[in-house]
Amino acid sequence: MSFLRLDNVFKTFGEVVAVDHVSLEAERGEFVVFVGPSGCGKSTLLRMIAGLEEVSGGRIEIDGRDMTDVAPAERQVSMVFQSYALFPHMTVRDNIGFGLKMSRMPRSEIEPRVLEAARILQIEELLDRKPRQLSGGQRQRVAIGRAIIRKPKLFLFDEPLSNLDADLRTQMRVEIARLHEKLGVTMVYVTHDQTEAMTLADRIVVMRAGRVEQIGSPVDLYEAPANSFVAGFIGSPKMNFVPVTVTAAEDRSLTLDHPALPSGHVTLATRRPHAIKTGEMITLGIRPEHLTLDGPRAVSLNVAAELVENLGGTSQIYVRTERGESLAIVAPGRQHIAKGERLSVGVEPAHAYLFDREGRAI
Ligand code: ATP
Repeated sequence: MSFLRLDNVFKTFGEVVAVDHVSLEAERGEFVVFVGPSGCGKSTLLRMIAGLEEVSGGRIEIDGRDMTDVAPAERQVSMVFQSYALFPHMTVRDNIGFGLKMSRMPRSEIEPRVLEAARILQIEELLDRKPRQLSGGQRQRVAIGRAIIRKPKLFLFDEPLSNLDADLRTQMRVEIARLHEKLGVTMVYVTHDQTEAMTLADRIVVMRAGRVEQIGSPVDLYEAPANSFVAGFIGSPKMNFVPVTVTAAEDRSLTLDHPALPSGHVTLATRRPHAIKTGEMITLGIRPEHLTLDGPRAVSLNVAAELVENLGGTSQIYVRTERGESLAIVAPGRQHIAKGERLSVGVEPAHAYLFDREGRAI
């Protein structure tokens, strides 16, 4: 039986459909990440699970119990927000213990739980400080401590690392992964950062305009995106997209025309059944890390170099086809390529993705 179950949940704010009939399930102990661009409805969905936002329709079940209309305090969930929402006049100790104090737990029982949370988060030496005496990362740890101490059945995180600088984000991301492993509690995490989604999630839910585009493990989404939106959202740098013309369509393969192809055309196997016809424009998708400058290649493209960024261990090379499409390439080491230099870049067919006019993977 699934631990968290959303059944056709939707939410409207007046005319705006923020969440559009979302159904999904999470297993006990699973780490689920909702990811998508700003305004896609991920925070609203999380807030409905927490009970901070009423549903306009649908059903929310946690651990076998219908929670759709249950008050937030009774759902046994803890939420960590982007704004740490700490009380500035209270010490770290009192901030962490505040929720339990409000629930009238005796001080003698609160104290060991505060210490345990502080130990897990390695902030024991900060217990007597006030929030203003803490760094951003330390403040977020206190906010997480306040969530842990309640021993919830479900943790909800709403972009918890967005206010931190890049280094601290990476560090806290690792700590959240450790925390999940240690506590084994089900976690639902909202972010617009695909790296956080890829590294933290057991399963990722990709959202767009209130709807779920695809649910799957990070590897599933990377290797078999359902459509060009997911393909473009998951993976960094973004997948390259090149419009191509279909000159021959078979059940299991398509012949594609593009002037950058040395012979003008190439035939690729399709992954799914399709109804593509000769003459249609479709999209070829290739990830920057799958475009190579040398070595074996079944598909080549003639391009001209525009810009090389040497990042130390790797280089990013931006090239352009004669038709003007810009492509990014990630190559190992330092690449000495002059602006305007003509290159032949290649890709193996297993790494070439095709999308129909509606963006569906084929
Ligand atoms: P972000 O990453 O920017 O936080 P999000 O994916 O979390 O975005 P939501 O905050 O869930 O998106 O918002 C989804 C949609 O609902 C947006 O169009 C937003 O403008 C709208 N919305 C959210 N809250 C309200 C509200 N209280 N009243 C009216 N519209 C709202």
